[in-house]
Amino acid sequence: SPIPDYLTRVLENARPFDAGEPACYIDVLAKADTTRMAVALATVDGSVYSVGDDNIEFSMQSISKPFVYALAIQDQGLAKVLEKVGVEPSGDAFNRLSLEAGTNRPMNPMINAGAVATHALVNSPDGTVEGRVNRILDMMSRLAGRQLHVDEEVYEAEFKDANRNMGLAYMLKAAGMITCDPQEAVKGYVKQCSVNVNVRDLAMMAATLANGGVHPVSGERIIPQDSVRQVLSVLTTCGMYNSSGDWISNVGIPAKSGVSGGIIGALPGQLGLAVFSPRLDERGNSVRGVAMCKQLSHDMGFHMMDVS
Ligand code: GLN
Repeated sequence: SPIPDYLTRVLENARPFDAGEPACYIDVLAKADTTRMAVALATVDGSVYSVGDDNIEFSMQSISKPFVYALAIQDQGLAKVLEKVGVEPSGDAFNRLSLEAGTNRPMNPMINAGAVATHALVNSPDGTVEGRVNRILDMMSRLAGRQLHVDEEVYEAEFKDANRNMGLAYMLKAAGMITCDPQEAVKGYVKQCSVNVNVRDLAMMAATLANGGVHPVSGERIIPQDSVRQVLSVLTTCGMYNSSGDWISNVGIPAKSGVSGGIIGALPGQLGLAVFSPRLDERGNSVRGVAMCKQLSHDMGFHMMDVS
């Protein structure tokens, strides 16, 4: 197949971009190896292609948010989720302490405030945070096609220093947007962010979204079709934080980034893609990751608004 050779060219074209720095708010991310780069592509018929550091694991971070949003919708129904979390792009940084005027909801599920509220909407079989995290981990693992694990080092470091997310959670509690203990909500949210993956896992997860919620290899329906539509809609307007407008006009693929340097994209009916490189731009998106996605989209005609 000519695809791996092509992906290698995409990777090498982005390698010279050396702007940005890895996330610095915790040591484990700050000391990430910035030479690492990978790209993976998974088609809805189950073929996966990847090059570069494609078996290197990193924490999902914010890439966990769309999948947990899908689970919350499945558990509560969309109407109840919408009472607690909006769907409007905020145009603000992902960790902004803000609620929507009038409704008191966080603006959307992709900023931290909305993601903490969304996490708290996922049912726990036994009422504990661990029970809820295990359900999330089980879903992520089925999406990836292998058992995934929480990176305890990332979790510990992040939870020890979670002042900002704690602030968000207390604000949500005061506004009536979460009912559980704010500290427990943050604990679970940080665990969901600390799940380790590689780009092949992420490409499969994205390909499941692109395939209407049915896993391309196992054939299992993991996410209901109506949740997939909701998730991809929100990713289109809010997935890349405050560069979502630039992203969707340039790349044209519903996508989600995370502070450890990963980005996923899901092109409905066609494929899922994932890229990894730790250096981030000032908005928290991977510099080389964005470059690779731009090239892929332009070369392959992936822009969803183009008529082919
Ligand atoms: N764990 C990170 C946080 O809550 C996730 C943010 C991100 O990936 N943008 O700050």
